[in-house]
Amino acid sequence: MPHREIPRASTALIGGSGTHAIDFPEALQRADVEIHAKEVVYSTPFGDSPPMNTLRLGNGELVLTCRMHGWRSGTTRKEASQQLFSVLREAGVEKIIAEGGVGTVHADWAPGSVIIPDDYLDWTARRDTALSDDYLLIMRDPLCKDLRGALAEAAASRLPDAALITGGVYAVTDGRHFESRAEVRALAAMGADVIGQSLAPEVYLAREIGACYAGIHQVVNRAEGVGQDWSHRELRSIFHERASLMGNLLLDLLPLVSGRETCGCRGLRKKTLIGPDVPGAP
Ligand SMILES: [Zn+2]
Repeated sequence: MPHREIPRASTALIGGSGTHAIDFPEALQRADVEIHAKEVVYSTPFGDSPPMNTLRLGNGELVLTCRMHGWRSGTTRKEASQQLFSVLREAGVEKIIAEGGVGTVHADWAPGSVIIPDDYLDWTARRDTALSDDYLLIMRDPLCKDLRGALAEAAASRLPDAALITGGVYAVTDGRHFESRAEVRALAAMGADVIGQSLAPEVYLAREIGACYAGIHQVVNRAEGVGQDWSHRELRSIFHERASLMGNLLLDLLPLVSGRETCGCRGLRKKTLIGPDVPGAP
């Protein structure tokens, strides 16, 4: 039975493949994070939300978390994204951090490297995923510079041996399949550094609800046609071996992001100039 009471939370964590291999965050047994609510499904105008956890930080703040929200059977990834962001909007979330795995188009970026991208290419067919028609969304600086700074800080202390790439272009594809060699060549020619399946539509929905958004992404393989063919074993071992590290990094990060406000993210959402409710519209 879905709950209707959505808690107030300033921050949200959208989990991906990086922490999927562990029971996050319980498996990390952190004294500074308490599970406030577990696997709660909320009612939204777009259908029942994916199961979500609420964490309570040492400073009393609540954080909403959700894992792999687009992969429920019987629910499209568009619907899942709308449900999730509808909950985040109602909760009053202002900062959203995402994590997940990506492939790289660069032969010299080893699996295990970590990237905090600052731009994206949307190569999906889901561009109309929105909660309303109310806003003009300006995607000039799509990934929050304050959150990226905090992510880089947390990554440098938790992953000192991993190559940390700050900045770069994340190309988003629909999946669920990976890309062909020709698609990888095309995406690289267009400016992609890494390829993944989650940054859009999240980046649009975050802007629509007025929240800052940024992500940290582990390189889990070289994309097709880049260097030697990757092995499934190598991919699997990164998912499993790095999950605790990534989980701890994200928990380290949560207290760092509250209160930061030098970015201009909120100013990049404007009231729409078109539509039936706008004066002068036909
Ligand atoms: Zn911001």
